[in-house]
Amino acid sequence: MTNPLVSLSHARKSFGKTEVLKDISLSVEQGQVVAIIGPSGGGKSTLLRCMTLLETLDGGSLSYGDLAVATDNGSGSVYGGKAVLSQAKTRFGLVFQNFNLFPHYTVLKNVTDAPLSVQKRPKDQVMAQAHELLVKMGLERKENMVPCELSGGQQQRVAIARALALNPDVLFFDEPTSALDPELTKGVLKVIRDLADEHMTMVIVTHEMSFARDVADHIIFMDGGYIVEEGPAEQVINNPQQERTKLFLANYG
Ligand code: ADP
Ligand code: MG
Repeated sequence: MTNPLVSLSHARKSFGKTEVLKDISLSVEQGQVVAIIGPSGGGKSTLLRCMTLLETLDGGSLSYGDLAVATDNGSGSVYGGKAVLSQAKTRFGLVFQNFNLFPHYTVLKNVTDAPLSVQKRPKDQVMAQAHELLVKMGLERKENMVPCELSGGQQQRVAIARALALNPDVLFFDEPTSALDPELTKGVLKVIRDLADEHMTMVIVTHEMSFARDVADHIIFMDGGYIVEEGPAEQVINNPQQERTKLFLANYG
C-alpha cells in the first residue's frame, strides 16, 4: 500500500475559546475527488486552511504522501522544520472563493510568476505550459489583460490555471463558484469537471450539490467541527443516513 496523497488525523483547531475543528480525520488517494459540504460556519474553510498550511493545527497530524508535515506528540501538533514545510507547499494548490489574483499582473504573469520566481523553472517551459493551461481554461485571448478586465468566471479560471502551473499533486478549492452568478458558475464547474475526468486529485468545498454528486467520488458532510457523515457521493446525496445531513440537503432541494 502506498500512502494517501494527503492524510489528516484527529485534527483539532480553535480560535480563542471557539473550537472550530474538533476531531477531523480524512485521507485523499491519488486520483480521488473529495467534496466537502455543510452549513456555513461548520469549519470547512478552516479545514482547508489547515491542510494548506495557512493555519496551524492545535492537535492531530498531517502528511503529504510520505512527508510528515505535523505529528501529534500526545499534547498537540508538532510541525516539521522549514525544509519539510517548503517541500509540502510544492504538493498542493489552492483556489479561493474570491480568486485572489494579483491585480496589477497580467493574466499570463499571474500564471507564470510562481513557477518562475519560486520554483525557478526554465522560462520557455513555464511559458509553454502557461499558454497551454490558458487555452484549456478558454482564456487564450486574455493573456495580456489584467484581472479587473475579466469576468468573475474568467478570473476564477485564471486562478485555476495559476494553481495548476505549479504542478501540484492535489488541488484544493474553497467554494470556487460562490462569488459567481449561475451563468459564470457553469464555466468554472465545467473546467473542474474536465480536471476530474483527467483524474486530477481534488478536494472541493462546495454548495453545488448536484455537481458534488456527479463529480466527486467521496463526499464529506461537516457540521459543528465534526464530520457528521461521509461516503460515496451518490449515497450521501441521494440516501443520507444522518438526520442532520437530511435536513441540510432538504434545504438544497
Ligand atoms: P465554513 O467555511 O464552514 O463556513 P469556517 O471555517 O470559515 O466555516 O468558520 C468556522 C468557525 O470558525 C466560524 O465560527 C468562524 O467565525 C470561525 N473562524 C474562522 N476563522 C477564524 C479566525 N481567523 N479567527 C476567529 N474565528 C474564526
Ligand atoms: Mg468557508
